[in-house]
Amino acid sequence: MGSKPHALLIPAPAQGHITPMLKLAKILHSKGFLITFLNTEFSHRRLLKSQGGATALDRFSSSFRFETVPDGLPPPENTEVTQNVYDICRSTQENCLEPFKKVVGKLSECFSPVTCIVSDLLMGFTLDAAEELGIPEFIFSTGGAGALMCSQQFPTLLDKGFMPLKDSSYAVNGYLDTIVDCIPNMKGIPLKYIPPFIRYSNPGDEFMVQFTTTQINKAITMASGIILNTFDDLEHHILNSLASVFPPCYAIGPLHLLENNLADRSLASIGSNLWKEEVECIKWLDSKPTSSVVYVNFGSIAVMTPQQLVEFCWGLANSKRPFLWILRSGLVSGDQSDVLPPEFYRETSGRGMLAGWCPQEQVISHPSVGGFLTHCGWNSTLESLSSGVPMICWPFFSDQFPNCWLSCTEWGVAMEIDGDVKRDEVERVVIELMGGEKGKRMRKNALSWKNKAEVACSFPDGSSVTELEKLVHQLKKVRK
Ligand code: UDP
Repeated sequence: MGSKPHALLIPAPAQGHITPMLKLAKILHSKGFLITFLNTEFSHRRLLKSQGGATALDRFSSSFRFETVPDGLPPPENTEVTQNVYDICRSTQENCLEPFKKVVGKLSECFSPVTCIVSDLLMGFTLDAAEELGIPEFIFSTGGAGALMCSQQFPTLLDKGFMPLKDSSYAVNGYLDTIVDCIPNMKGIPLKYIPPFIRYSNPGDEFMVQFTTTQINKAITMASGIILNTFDDLEHHILNSLASVFPPCYAIGPLHLLENNLADRSLASIGSNLWKEEVECIKWLDSKPTSSVVYVNFGSIAVMTPQQLVEFCWGLANSKRPFLWILRSGLVSGDQSDVLPPEFYRETSGRGMLAGWCPQEQVISHPSVGGFLTHCGWNSTLESLSSGVPMICWPFFSDQFPNCWLSCTEWGVAMEIDGDVKRDEVERVVIELMGGEKGKRMRKNALSWKNKAEVACSFPDGSSVTELEKLVHQLKKVRK
């Protein structure tokens, strides 16, 4: 063991961060690294439960291990929902440094000395530990390059007086359509697509802006490199702009394609979903014609009102298209039970399938899926693009807004739906997506991005493959 490099990877404790970090861990393992994957205790309990019980992840222990740190928060009442993002950012920052250092020490004594750390951008406290312990650290920013660029510009937007909103009327008086000219290589982006924390409209937004700015500045000044789950063709110019500000950037995505191309399948069965997957939906998709199904999923964090849910349900019902709709626990604010009207079930019987969670990568790449109604989380966006599936975007939070803007305007693969969702609009865009002229153009563009993503991840000289080789070289070289 002693002679192998040992990478310690720590994701932020949320689904959209754990999934890509685990993929990166498997990829590094295939490149000869010993791996320790460090979850918070809460996330790890959920992972074990969804993956089959307390010992589900033990069988890989000789070279791929899991460890945990407490997150400093009291256990939530409902253990099947994502923790509050503000609380978890604040708490990990305040409470995790010492437990993290202890884990590094323990690994040195009982397993193998940690030779490099790969940490989520939001877990910047790890950089303090890395500096103190003399271990090089690379930061993994799990969103897209465009989203990172926007967040990096928060201080500029404040300095220039674009933000925060002067009062709540500015959210509705057209001000948010103002084009921002100061985001490098995102020319023409309106203010409404900048991650909305910067508006300071909700309690906690100001903290999130300070927190994000601190994490980004720490990454710029302390990290040995920045890892991004994107590919050069997709965000070429933005990546160039990032490279002029950040330490060396490595665009090595889409990670799920790189992972699927691994010759070493020994870790393929380690799943990352925190909810139990309802795999019956794949059988249901098998029974549907090619490109006929609208897949609807709002990820792991978005929360909608019962009224919004009802508007979506009637929009889908009235579109008369088959759909697979994932209603995860916690998706609807308040008590979710019986929010959907009985007439909806009658109207869509045989045509719609509802499930609590699904194996999304498998679903999106299923031939029956013809379109994706999504909240525009970065993983969902990449998974959709690289399966050639066009999207309807209903961004809800954070980086989902720049992801939506890029998908609609730069990549030509999506249409947006108004935040104040109405059933007639849902019906109209679903029909357009699944069979209209615009839908066809978007599908064509999505297929072209699918090809480009595959090329980026092809051995031996796809752009993401060569960036990965450079990253691996650096991770091994910086060994003390
Ligand atoms: N996911 C899944 N099944 C579901 C919903 C989501 O496997 O029913 C996965 C999805 O494939 C993606 C991740 O969970 O990899 C969600 O990340 P994303 O960035 O899209 O959104 P977030 O949950 O962070 O808002």
